[in-house]
Amino acid sequence: MVSPMNGRAELRDDKVITPFGDLAPRPDIRPEVLLRLSGKLQTTLELGQLLEIFLEEIQQAVLVDGLTFHHEPTNTTIAVGRNSLHTANYRLQTQQDYMGDMTFHRSTRFREHELANIEGLMTTLVYPLRNALRYHEALAAAFRDPLTGAGNRVALDKTLSREVELSKRHDQPLSVLMLDLDHFKQVNDEFGHSMGDKVLKEAVKAMTGCIRQTDMCFRYGGEEFLIMLSNADQSGALRIAERVRMGIGQLSFAGKKDKLQVTASIGCATLQPSDDTEELVSRADTALYVAKDSGRNRVISDLDIEYTRQGDVSEEPSPEPNQEANGH
Ligand code: GH3
Ligand code: MG
Ligand code: MG
Repeated sequence: MVSPMNGRAELRDDKVITPFGDLAPRPDIRPEVLLRLSGKLQTTLELGQLLEIFLEEIQQAVLVDGLTFHHEPTNTTIAVGRNSLHTANYRLQTQQDYMGDMTFHRSTRFREHELANIEGLMTTLVYPLRNALRYHEALAAAFRDPLTGAGNRVALDKTLSREVELSKRHDQPLSVLMLDLDHFKQVNDEFGHSMGDKVLKEAVKAMTGCIRQTDMCFRYGGEEFLIMLSNADQSGALRIAERVRMGIGQLSFAGKKDKLQVTASIGCATLQPSDDTEELVSRADTALYVAKDSGRNRVISDLDIEYTRQGDVSEEPSPEPNQEANGH
């Protein structure tokens, strides 16, 4: 039989009890409560909803203020109800799967018979939780590029338009970097396609290693990536872009004969009040084009392009005023 607690329940004050041990209290829950809970848990595949239902139902049997669920492999943390001083922690582990860690909170210390009841109620959670986790993983995979783990275009469209809206509403800066690996066709031609794939994966690791947790990296096309930098103005974005460019430049791959190193060109754009998502991306794209055109392995900001154009105009000789001054 599958047990959700292939471990021990721990109280924060280091008191440890062994669930269902010979001396431990047995759960004292009416069968109809378990049946009702089981039925309710089968009504959703959505993780947050499932945990809300679970908390709501167990609160009828045991006094619990709230619970926190954490699933390490998918980096998921969901808290429902209230956070309180006393906690009881469980690791949810079946013989096949690790299904996360669950912490129950309340303002007074849990008693052993209450923990036994919580444990009894948790047995109903095993299968619904496993189904919800699979659903959650499938949903996450639908938004991820399978090769690199970066977000895909669907994720980009959803996330960026939401971020543009939020950034305007809260008057906070938002920048994007458009990054393209240089001479990548040559990498495939000289080192093989699987080496190309490896470079793409490592490049994404390098990118995500250079950005904050709230920033996101998306695969825009073959060897082209968009990095979304929340709360970053132009100078902040340029700093991160330079860090990313250097991070990629430091990667090194052992080929059969030669060592392989790659470089990236990056175009940077910061959201302007009149921008929509397309305009922001298009300006980053133009800056990337300029970075490529001016020699690759560099960062160019969209504002620099405008500055250069204005600079070019003012530096041009303007004969008319001189002619007037000279009276010609
Ligand atoms: P540039 O510096 O101008 O960007 O030159 P480039 O060679 O990087 O650009 P180009 O567009 O000519 O070539 C892109 C290459 O990226 C060609 C394509 O085969 C390769 N590529 C795209 N997606 C993948 C992939 O998933 N895996 C591998 N290995 N290669 C890919
Ligand atoms: Mg390229
Ligand atoms: Mg390209």
